[in-house]
Formats: sequence, C-alpha cells, structure tokens
Amino acid sequence: AIKFEGIHKRYGSSVAIERLDLDIQQGEFISLLGPSGSGKSTLLMMLAGFEQVSGGRILIDDCDVTLLPPERRGIGMVFQNYALFPHMTVAENIGFSLRQTRTSKAVIHDKVSKMLDLVQLSGFENRYPQQLSGGQQQRVAIARAVVFDPPVLLMDEPLSALDKQLREAMQLEIKSLHDRLGITFIYVTHDQREALVMSDRVALLNDGKIEQIGSPRELYDRPCSRFAASFIGEAN
Ligand code: ATP
Ligand code: MG
Repeated sequence: AIKFEGIHKRYGSSVAIERLDLDIQQGEFISLLGPSGSGKSTLLMMLAGFEQVSGGRILIDDCDVTLLPPERRGIGMVFQNYALFPHMTVAENIGFSLRQTRTSKAVIHDKVSKMLDLVQLSGFENRYPQQLSGGQQQRVAIARAVVFDPPVLLMDEPLSALDKQLREAMQLEIKSLHDRLGITFIYVTHDQREALVMSDRVALLNDGKIEQIGSPRELYDRPCSRFAASFIGEAN
C-alpha cells in the first residue's frame, strides 16, 4: 500500500499541493483526475522521487521513502510524451532498465520477449520507434516501465497524444494489462470519462487538494461539491 501523509509542496511561494492525505491499496487502479494545474503530475513526481516534498511523508508498504532517490523506490513510470530512445530498437528500449543491472543477456532476452507478448508486439522487436504508430509506441513505453516487475506503475496522461479512437482502444488494453499484472496502477488524466471507465477509485483534485475520492459510481451519482458536480458532469 502507498500512503501520502500530510504532503505539502511549494514551488517558491506558490502552493501546488496542500496538506494532502491519500491511501492507495495494493493492486488497485486509481485515477488522479483534475483540471490543468490541480497538482496531478506533482503528486506523481513526488511519489516517483523526481520532486522533493516540502512537508509530510510518503510510505510504500510501511517503509518511509520520502528521502529515497527514484531508483531505490522500485516504481515504473510512463509519461505523456513517451520518450522512447529513438536510436534503440523496440527490444533494446524494453530491456534498457535491465541492462543497467547485473542481469544476464539470456534472462534479459527472455524477459523482453515476455513483455513483447504482454503488449502484443511480438514480431516488432527489431523496429525503431519512428517505425511504429503512436499506440504501438505507447505500448513499448508501458512494457519498458513494467519490465523489472515494479509493484506500482505510474502513468501521466499516457494517451493524450493519441486520437480518440486509438485512445479508447488503448484504455481497454491498459485495463486488461492491469488485470493480468495485478499491480497497483496510478493513472493521471484530466479526462473525466477516461477516469470513470478505467478506475476502481477516482481522486478528484482541485487546486492541490483532494476534492472528493470514491468509486466512479459514487463520484458520478453523488458529487459532494459544486466543483465535483460540474467537473464530473462534463463527462458526456
Ligand atoms: P496538467 O493537467 O496541466 O498537467 P497538473 O494537474 O499535472 O496539470 P502540476 O503540473 O502538478 O498540475 O502543477 C501544479 C501546480 O504547480 C501548477 O500551479 C503549476 O504551475 C505548478 N508547478 C508545477 N511544476 C512546477 C515547477 N517546476 N516550478 C514551478 N511551479 C510548478
Ligand atoms: Mg500534469
């Protein structure tokens, strides 16, 4: 489980996250939903260790990781502009993080072909990123992020660069990947409908605070503020 305890984040004098508490259960699919500037990416970056907190603690499985560097937190991450290494093939991209460790070539090869299978890209291992569609590139980015078996996968607007049709297909793929992997997914989006269809729970952020948190049904049927009602209501 992941715990944000009284997390505070300032950039200079402006407050990005305000005394935020959030508990995330092992294996759940939770979305962080909210308008631009509400603090979604900041929360992910602090959990991954790329941004320091200004106050509060972050616990992963009861272990305080607040001061640990990113590489010691064991978290996989997929960004909006999937930034694959352009000069590496699909297989080399996926195996990248394993090559930084003392993993043998045979094990890496085996693991990479399992990943290719998982994201349905077997046969594409020798292509370069620019020879793939946007959706295929995003699948490579996901395979690369889960190749070292992280207990948690963070995704920051992973589908925003895709057109509507491909986005909807990828939403289903990510859902099914979550079912098969059984690890925790934390999914950032500003698309209400995407959050509602994909998640076990949705945390609605507004101005650095959690406005409401609950199942998609609860948010949809019982928005607890005017902000929640109008933001969720835009999903149609
Ligand atoms: P978006 O949907 O546009 O990606 P977001 O919810 O991810 O928005 P954040 O990027 O977390 O929002 O930003 C939260 C607040 O913190 C914003 O007011 C933003 O301007 C500010 N902020 C984020 N990163 C920095 C930074 N590196 N320096 C200064 N201010 C920042
Ligand atoms: Mg963001």
